[in-house]
Amino acid sequence: MKAFFWAILLLVATATADHKSSKNKNKFIDLTHAFNNETVTWPGRTSTFNVEIEGYTPDGMWIASRGFCTSEHTSTHIDSPYHFHKNGRRLTDIPLEDLIDTPAVMIDIYDKVHRLVNGELKVIENYVLTREDIIEWESKNGGIPQGSIVLLRTGWESRWPNARAFRGEHKPTTEAPEETNEIRKNPEVKVGDLDLNFPGYDATAAQYLASEKQVLGVGIDVLSIDAGANSRFFPAHQVFAARGVWMLEMVANLHLLPPKGFNLWVVPFKIDRGTGAPARVLAKLN
Ligand SMILES: [Zn+2]
Repeated sequence: MKAFFWAILLLVATATADHKSSKNKNKFIDLTHAFNNETVTWPGRTSTFNVEIEGYTPDGMWIASRGFCTSEHTSTHIDSPYHFHKNGRRLTDIPLEDLIDTPAVMIDIYDKVHRLVNGELKVIENYVLTREDIIEWESKNGGIPQGSIVLLRTGWESRWPNARAFRGEHKPTTEAPEETNEIRKNPEVKVGDLDLNFPGYDATAAQYLASEKQVLGVGIDVLSIDAGANSRFFPAHQVFAARGVWMLEMVANLHLLPPKGFNLWVVPFKIDRGTGAPARVLAKLN
């Protein structure tokens, strides 16, 4: 048995040197934050990441495994419509054809969020993208194709992974609330009164994209599709979810994308009937 083990070890040692590189190298831009101990979460949610085993067995064999525990809505992730609509599709109801290789556009509002006023940088923290903003973008870049995906860049990514800055928290830090199973215990979920400030979509933008442009999905580089100050009624989430549009949040690297001319690949972790899931999001330039 021991001889067999050493024979396997020899095979493995020689095989690692023979590792082939991918044929598709450099074709994709990764729009995903790496998941780790610094990952920013929604207030009150926790996310843990730990080493389960990492080292040599007494026989000299290497073995490594890590574990993680997270919300469906942590790090770069997809919201299924069910997240904000009782009759909306759950994660596993979304057809793969809608998630894979779909034409997408990127709307950049960095300059609307970050302005120079008398030579000083002023950040409009809760700036909301409106229907007019989108029409203005279309007049420069051409119409948003029906059935596409829209990504919104606010420039908030430079704050990652500083949780306070990324959430736009202003109040002094208090003890983190204890993690509970509140949703399971109490369906009258309490929201609102959150110290959150970051840009988002407004309801007119959501209505325009969902109904007139019939987009399949939308995305943003901040914690939520809705601006931080709208985290009581979540108007954009409600409009999108009611019309079956899925949402991507905490998308990374949007500054690397052109306004048009790329397709999106969204590969969520397959959580059965999920309200959402962490996802690998990739852009393929045409
Ligand atoms: Zn979410």
